[in-house]
Amino acid sequence: MMRRSETGTYALILEVGAPFSVAVGKLGLFCGEAGWYIYCGSAFGPGGLRARTAHHGRDSQRPHWHIDYLKPVAGISEIWYTTDPVRREHDWIRLLRTDQRITAPRIGFGSSDCACDTHLLYSAQKPSFHAFVRKAHADFPVHGTISRVGSVPFPG
Ligand SMILES: [Zn+2]
Repeated sequence: MMRRSETGTYALILEVGAPFSVAVGKLGLFCGEAGWYIYCGSAFGPGGLRARTAHHGRDSQRPHWHIDYLKPVAGISEIWYTTDPVRREHDWIRLLRTDQRITAPRIGFGSSDCACDTHLLYSAQKPSFHAFVRKAHADFPVHGTISRVGSVPFPG
């Protein structure tokens, strides 16, 4: 269970039921397939992971992050997270992309402030939590524990 104000890195595992097209701020129109989307971010500010993931679970009247624009079409299925003090979001994107089935559906999505070409990934199948955890601990021997929760434990 995520404790109040714990900080760290998270991945939203999003399920999309049908092909969609949404306008994503300055990025423009984004057309995507049904399937699974993975968005990686981090929350090291006040409120930490709990406040940030609660934000992702609520409708946004004024979208702030690119991921906010996907809310009308994508449901949060799971949240993977770690309270590791190192900001892991960029490493997680790189690790996830070593799986050939995981692709980058839109270059520039969520990566305005870093060197990654995107922070949103796509997979036709639900991504495997256990495979990801194994990969993270193999690549980073000192990586903090990675946990998984459903979207339900995060009331606004
Ligand atoms: Zn990045």
